[in-house]
Amino acid sequence: MSKTPAFPLVLAAVVALTAGCSESTSDDPGSNGSTGLTRAARGSTPAPHLPGDVFDESQPTIANLDPELLDAVQAAAEDARADGVHLVITSGWRSREHQQRLFDEAVAEHGSEEEALRYVSTPDTSAHVTGDAVDIGPKEADEWLIEHGAAYGLCQIFANEIWHFELATTPGEECPPMYPDSSYRG
Ligand SMILES: [Zn+2]
Repeated sequence: MSKTPAFPLVLAAVVALTAGCSESTSDDPGSNGSTGLTRAARGSTPAPHLPGDVFDESQPTIANLDPELLDAVQAAAEDARADGVHLVITSGWRSREHQQRLFDEAVAEHGSEEEALRYVSTPDTSAHVTGDAVDIGPKEADEWLIEHGAAYGLCQIFANEIWHFELATTPGEECPPMYPDSSYRG
């Protein structure tokens, strides 16, 4: 086995080349990925998750979400994709330290804690810190989720944050009235 070290490298190169050709030239869905060789090559090099991919549970911001919330977001993302809309989690679970930093930045930006609370919660009140909230993007994904989210129990919570969703209703029921901004929830 150790006498032919070059052979596996050559084989790997051929496999990679074949897979590359197949993926870049095949427009026929019937033949795309239908050979065992292509499937094997794909299996050994899975496509990397993009940042914020709702199925990438290697990211703490996604893995530390409430499992029920994550299930709902993943189910919604699959259905949104069928409509040509790609849901991305721009921010999910946050550590207390991260939330404090965001709050401190908001105080600096808006001039007072009172004003900052309209945009960012403290570590004690943020649903992101408990894993019970997700921020979704881009804008067309927010609009899709505002229209369809209640079917999964997902609701916009604050009128001034179209990207922030939480489990807030029984799937299929209506969402509760929104708070004008996060300072109203306290
Ligand atoms: Zn949020």
